[in-house]
Amino acid sequence: PFQYAPAPESRSIVDIAPSYGLFVDGEFVDGGGKSFKTVNPATEEVLSEVAAGTAEDVDRAVRAARRAFTRVWGPMRPADRGKYLFRIARLLQERAREFAVLESLDNGKPIRESRDVDVPLAAAHFFYHAGWADKLGWAGLGPGPRPLGVAGQVIPWNFPLLMLAWKVAPALATGNTVVLKPAETTPLTALLFAEVCRQADLPPGVVNIVTGAGDTGRAVVEHDDVDKVAFTGSTEVGRSIARAVAGTRKKLTLELGGKAANIVFDDAPIDQAVDGIVQGIFFNQGHVCCAGSRLLVQENVHDEVIASLQRRIGTLRLGDPLDKNTDIGAINSAEQLARIRELSDVGVAEGAQRWQPACELPARGFWFPPTVFTDVSPAHRIARDEVFGPVLSVLTFRTPDEAVAKANNTTYGLSAGIWTEKGSRILKIADQLRAGVVWANTFNKFDPTSPFGGYKQSGYGREGGRHGLAAYLKGSDA
Ligand code: NAD
Repeated sequence: PFQYAPAPESRSIVDIAPSYGLFVDGEFVDGGGKSFKTVNPATEEVLSEVAAGTAEDVDRAVRAARRAFTRVWGPMRPADRGKYLFRIARLLQERAREFAVLESLDNGKPIRESRDVDVPLAAAHFFYHAGWADKLGWAGLGPGPRPLGVAGQVIPWNFPLLMLAWKVAPALATGNTVVLKPAETTPLTALLFAEVCRQADLPPGVVNIVTGAGDTGRAVVEHDDVDKVAFTGSTEVGRSIARAVAGTRKKLTLELGGKAANIVFDDAPIDQAVDGIVQGIFFNQGHVCCAGSRLLVQENVHDEVIASLQRRIGTLRLGDPLDKNTDIGAINSAEQLARIRELSDVGVAEGAQRWQPACELPARGFWFPPTVFTDVSPAHRIARDEVFGPVLSVLTFRTPDEAVAKANNTTYGLSAGIWTEKGSRILKIADQLRAGVVWANTFNKFDPTSPFGGYKQSGYGREGGRHGLAAYLKGSDA
């Protein structure tokens, strides 16, 4: 196994402090509790020590958010709120390299993805919502839209800055203030974002960042003075949050897990479909809630698709996330790696065929090779459970009806993909799929103008687009 040393010139683009406090009321302050280490998953090197927010810290942040809402942000002219969002968007662009390097260091994702997807999309969310700030009356969400107050937001580690942007931009554009808890393995870009809020002269208390683990998240969700809870993460934690919020006045949106079907018909251009399959499951090491983790391929093209897929996977480069040529980076944490290994071994034990390319894994850090399972039956756990890693399960179908039935045979309903030359088939099948997002002849495409969200155990409510605004306004039904 080779040992890789991160490219020193990239590493020096960003200053990482040895320790960080919480961002409350416009200042970095010490937390009242312990701290935890955040590591680079590609090397296991400790990047920094970060404060673990206590319930008292969360209370302090919620009080600051309430004050800012009542005195400054709520009464502010909507056009002026919009100016702050534009300013934040421009600062994200100006500091894009720093954000991209920091995201890849803390998360393990390839720099090409953080540079070309995470950071530009995060800026795009602020630009898009900046435009809405003074046009909410025209959003078709009822007369005189009014903000809810303080939003408590909890996000996962797979797209740390982008998930923050999905949460913070609509909340601010609609006149709410925010207490956000980033995931415990990826707090650093949220803290750099706090610095951007200061740079933008955002009034103190409008955005507060409280780092910590699940108990800090629970304190945010359960705080009495939070009006709105927005959560993205696992279905299991989402369920416990739904229980905690039930019977309170809090509004709730949940973006949870997925097990998306990527359906390939025999008339699809195979090369293009194979690229889409690769993009669908190996983008961000498969740490994607809407990953195309179940490939449904029409039986008569199965062998051709699999042979082409294996050739294509053989060309993917796994390694240093800071190298611009890397396709597959590191798994975000030792815990996630253990979960992926376990489910992959269950796949073998249940009788599916596991295929992995010849692929050298670095000696340190958390790595898992791109993996394809064939001979998968719908009852296998790898066909039902979210792996949240670079593991594809292949199933076959004969007719369009069978494809739809198999695609919908899941407790989730976040996304799906269809590959075919026939436009009429796309429209018909998209209508029959119980999935919040359906891509046709493409996969994993995101845009701030399109609403995103799920059915069934993938959660409820939408983020992005005009629909996403409803979740942060009084009287609207999200
Ligand atoms: P997770 O549920 O373990 O953690 C998510 C966040 O919740 C973290 O910040 C964590 O600290 C916090 N948390 C944990 N327990 C909590 C509690 N009891 N109360 C409040 N907060 C708590 O999920 P994860 O492992 O970080 O993320 C992976 C999951 O997220 C996957 O299932 C994935 O599908 C899902 N996800 C969904 C979307 C979407 O848009 N639907 C997007 C990204 C990720």
